[in-house]
Amino acid sequence: MLPGGGIGPELMAYVKEVFRFGGVPVDFETIDIDPSTEGNEELEYAITSIRRNGVALKGNIETKSLTAGIQSRNVAIRSELDLFVSALHCKSYPGIKSMYQDIDIMLIRQNTEGEYAMLEHESVAGVVESMKVVTTDNAERVARYGFEYAKNNGRKKVTTIHKANIMKLSDGLFLETSKKVAKDYPDIEHNDMIIDNCCMQLVSNPHQFDVMIMTNLYGAIVSNVICGLVGGAGLISGRNYGDHFAVFEPGTRNTGTAIAGKNIANPIAMLNASVDLLEHLGFDYHATNIKHAIELTINEDHIHTPDLGGTNSSTEVVQNILKRLEKLTEGHNWM
Ligand code: ATP
Repeated sequence: MLPGGGIGPELMAYVKEVFRFGGVPVDFETIDIDPSTEGNEELEYAITSIRRNGVALKGNIETKSLTAGIQSRNVAIRSELDLFVSALHCKSYPGIKSMYQDIDIMLIRQNTEGEYAMLEHESVAGVVESMKVVTTDNAERVARYGFEYAKNNGRKKVTTIHKANIMKLSDGLFLETSKKVAKDYPDIEHNDMIIDNCCMQLVSNPHQFDVMIMTNLYGAIVSNVICGLVGGAGLISGRNYGDHFAVFEPGTRNTGTAIAGKNIANPIAMLNASVDLLEHLGFDYHATNIKHAIELTINEDHIHTPDLGGTNSSTEVVQNILKRLEKLTEGHNWM
């Protein structure tokens, strides 16, 4: 468990409360990374711990320094563990009023390279160069993940998002690679869309999208657009996968510094991330019940924090989830 900064610690306390209440057989090793230190000892310890445990639940870790050479810890964790894909299932909750209903988009994002290669330098005073890196191997792994997901989950269409009209080599390679991979999946429709048009289409006609694949920075932006469409930063979880490790976190990866300690942060995104973690570990019974308790709290009980237009506190949401969980698991013998 890497609580991170801002609202991370309070959200993690809710996860622990729900797990304790539900008798979930998971122990957390908690590692705090101080954002103000420039050394990497805690970060290295966190990475070692994830290698040992295989999985992590994570809040956003701030990087306060803007000094060149000081890496974002979040990016470093994903790169070190080769968590090459990020997957966000952006699905509307019927109980939440938002601009659109029935959105169900799987956003697949390259998670370790592209604009996040962290290769920046000032070549001469006043001129900064920043490298965007696209490799065939990673583009192929991401495209294959997207098409496999579509095939295994009854999805009909994959859309590759790019800016290959301008970035002809980098985005061109990403696009060409996904077109090649698409040939192995003749039953799934494949199309592509330029990132700027994609943003317009998302806010005007989001139902045309099914599975989307894209490079790193576009994924950061588009994931926030879609999370905004279904209800904001506090709902959707994000999964980071590599071949060996998996890290689960809130989908929009916000720190929430301004709302920390006020009992108003929406606990749902982190609780959904904990459900993803349980599904990944094969604790389906616990995952299903917690997920169901969350859905009932949002859709039937309408217990909503202010970010969703409600008046409930974070703790009221969590208490309601516990109440629902108790009913759902009545009579179950944990031992
Ligand atoms: P910072 O480093 O300043 O915290 P950030 O990029 O991480 O910036 P935030 O400002 O933390 O982004 O988050 C963006 C917006 O989303 C803010 O208005 C924040 O209050 C809101 N937000 C993020 N997480 C939650 C949550 N769990 N519940 C309610 N609102 C949230």
